[in-house]
Amino acid sequence: MYSPSISGVAANSESGSRIFVYEVEGMRQSEATDQTSNPIRRSGSVFISVPYERMNQEMRRIARMGGKIVSIRPSNSAPETNNGKVAPEAGLQSQKSGEKTKPMTQAKEKVQVPVNLYKPANPYIGKCISTEELVREGGEGTVRHVKFDISGGKLHYLEGQSIGIIPDGTDKNGKPHKIRLYSIASTRHGDDVDDKTVSLCVRRLEYKSPETGEKVFGVCSTFLTGLEPGDDVKITGPVGKEMLLPDDEEATVIMMATGTGIAPFRAYLWRMFKENNPDYKFKGLAWLFFGVAYTPNILYKEELEQLQQEFPDNFRLTYAISREQKNVDGGKMYIQNRIQENADQLWELVQKPNTHTYICGLKGMEGGIDEGMSAASSKYGVDWAGYQKQLKKEHRWHVETY
Ligand code: FAD
Repeated sequence: MYSPSISGVAANSESGSRIFVYEVEGMRQSEATDQTSNPIRRSGSVFISVPYERMNQEMRRIARMGGKIVSIRPSNSAPETNNGKVAPEAGLQSQKSGEKTKPMTQAKEKVQVPVNLYKPANPYIGKCISTEELVREGGEGTVRHVKFDISGGKLHYLEGQSIGIIPDGTDKNGKPHKIRLYSIASTRHGDDVDDKTVSLCVRRLEYKSPETGEKVFGVCSTFLTGLEPGDDVKITGPVGKEMLLPDDEEATVIMMATGTGIAPFRAYLWRMFKENNPDYKFKGLAWLFFGVAYTPNILYKEELEQLQQEFPDNFRLTYAISREQKNVDGGKMYIQNRIQENADQLWELVQKPNTHTYICGLKGMEGGIDEGMSAASSKYGVDWAGYQKQLKKEHRWHVETY
């Protein structure tokens, strides 16, 4: 029978247990009612309240009964509308502009997100301060960590944003080159923690022309990786709100990177573990999955491993080294194989309402990650595509691939 108070179930009971609501399809009412204290049936769906500590057990039971979980949410996160459906924007608050703010972990502190402080018509002229090769001997290609002085203007940014670079010179039509975007690899305070710099992690694009077979180097990446200290650089932005780090110090932050996709995660990790910020003391769990071709291609390897040693309870580091490690089937070890190996744990983590998952790097890396997550969630009768849609709606599944 319909109970109007599904969202009235205490999210935190007296014992401190959190309650979640599963929307389940395909389960006979008697099966649901027989074994649960609070099933609510609505046009083909059953809504079941489950304490956090019983979530996996309940999922297994539902799967055994042939039920399919179509959504899971904390009982207080998304009040239902009159017709029993979860309101798409439920839990989101309105800003002055009418724009929606991020729910839960993103909404703690109102930090203004700077956007387009410098536009292509009038870019900021930064100066290269330092440039450092990140690929060690035996590795593939060139990736450089490049730091710019931005102390002379109003440019500032947050972790997870990108800046635009306009390379010097002109294109084949004699026009100035267009901007290219690069993820910022430093925290909002910069590598020297003095609010005066921004850093990038740039791979020099190199490929064989399909037409001539000649080696071709990318325009902007070659420009950036070839900079010398003292050189000027035209910078635009910052841009991007997709990859912002939650303010919640207790959050679980799962990061999946390939190659230079590590850039925003370097910024997160430095903010979490290297800086001493009075307003942000990370106490949650950060888990980085990092895919590269060879060990010498592990960018920022020493620092990452140092962090893992210093903060074993708060930082996990999992490499996928495709040309050196083998997956369970004897094939190359890609990031998706690591996701599959850890899928059950990841599945459990993504269900926590303060878990954010970030994917950054090569286009195409998402497919394998979805496969891994899908395999794990299907064990509990959950359709991954639908569940992921919900995570995206809640701003807890973040993707930036290029
Ligand atoms: P271009 O001279 O513009 O050449 C690129 C073109 O070359 C492609 O459009 C394609 O037509 C062609 N091409 C490329 N590969 C091949 C191939 N294998 N076969 C045939 N043709 C090919 N890059 C980083 O290094 N670090 C970052 O942190 C980073 N962050 C980014 C963040 C965002 C949000 C985005 C959108 C992109 C990011 N990039 C990053 C990529 C970056 O913007 C550039 O696309 C990259 O550096 C290449 O630019 P380029 O000027 O060197 O290449």
